[in-house]
Amino acid sequence: MPKLGLLALMVLLIPQAGLKTRLYAGQTAPAANPLAGDVDRLAAEINPQVVAWRRDFHKNPELGNREVRTSKVIADELRKLGYEVTTGVAKTGVVGVLRGSRPGPVVALRSDMDALPVAEQGDLPFKSIARTEWNGQQVGVMHACGHDNHMAILLGTATVLAKMKDRLPGTVKLIFQPAEEGPPPGEEGGAQQMVKENVLENPHVDAVFGLHVFPYPAGTIVYRPGPLMASADTFVIKIKGRQTHGAVPWGGIDPIVIGSQVVMALQTIISRTVNITEAPAVVTVGRFTGGNRSNIVPEEVELEGTVRAFDESVRKDIHQRIRSIATHLSEAAGGSATVEFGLGYPVTRNDPALTERMVPTLRRAAGADNVRLGPLTGTAEDFSFFQQKVPGMFVFLGVTPRDQDHTKVPQNHSPLFFADESALPVGVRVMSNLAIDYLTGQK
Ligand SMILES: [Zn+2]
Ligand SMILES: [Zn+2]
Repeated sequence: MPKLGLLALMVLLIPQAGLKTRLYAGQTAPAANPLAGDVDRLAAEINPQVVAWRRDFHKNPELGNREVRTSKVIADELRKLGYEVTTGVAKTGVVGVLRGSRPGPVVALRSDMDALPVAEQGDLPFKSIARTEWNGQQVGVMHACGHDNHMAILLGTATVLAKMKDRLPGTVKLIFQPAEEGPPPGEEGGAQQMVKENVLENPHVDAVFGLHVFPYPAGTIVYRPGPLMASADTFVIKIKGRQTHGAVPWGGIDPIVIGSQVVMALQTIISRTVNITEAPAVVTVGRFTGGNRSNIVPEEVELEGTVRAFDESVRKDIHQRIRSIATHLSEAAGGSATVEFGLGYPVTRNDPALTERMVPTLRRAAGADNVRLGPLTGTAEDFSFFQQKVPGMFVFLGVTPRDQDHTKVPQNHSPLFFADESALPVGVRVMSNLAIDYLTGQK
């Protein structure tokens, strides 16, 4: 988002009353859950606190697996609200459990907690000036992906649900997850580590919901049944030939020529074997290194690339074909190849039945006019690790000021990423209503 002056920012933040009218304008859903009115009232009531939490997190960002202060703030607030709190989950994660007044299902709501090694360039009054060491370098730290909003929304939701505890069946499990952007090199962390530490058990979670702020018009909810975000894996191919004089190529085996054939053949995986009408995919070679002078055929070359897919079977198939192409082409030329994959995040895939069931809730919570079906998104999310274990739904929450073109503002991870706080109460209503409607089985 463009740099906003303080005055412009205040103008954006002040008109809460106008905002309310706008957000409810399209709200025509029939027979709402009898608890929905209370959610709306509470979400409005606690909004100043939600904004305060968001600004506090924004001003005090911490990198993945280092969310020490963040974790303490969250744990303290959850304890005050009466949650059973577990800290130190996947290093700095916090889990809060709220048991309703009678038995029922278990619903989990997730927020990530980490910031990025980005030096903030905006001029917000609560801008981050934090610096830390990352990968051996001094870096600025900023909530450039907007996870500060997610935490504030989930604490707001925690407050709403705690106040309604006596009228809720079942159990709410709040998952505050570290290191969504990936743990520091050499460390484990994030959703995968939380799953390993059984965060979805005791009690077993029946469904999990999460949201992410995104450059859509502020207060918009964008959902998609089935695949939403891509899987993201890396690969390294080492091709071994036999070194020789560049003038006498027949005396050796040229790994540069083999590598070139491999690069071209890898491009046929998508163009000739992936059914792009079902799920698109990408194979990119981003690095090709080898050799050091004009007249030497080198011994070895290295290719490195990334694979993106929107279907787990396509993802596996692509891996197998990369391995097969690299090894067989190399062998055909008399060389050899090794292929190693770095498995990143799986496909973020929304359970279709769960999504269909919860869309009326989204429409009621955000206003029917503000809820829309979204496209596939090429970025990846480790929320997908939770979805591999239990049905889950992940949605985007728009945070671009309504008077700006959301296709042109700085994206998440930009040093100028800006989140319009008018989206915060929408987030609280969405998360609260998802939990309540899921637990009560009502719409
Ligand atoms: Zn991010
Ligand atoms: Zn993010």
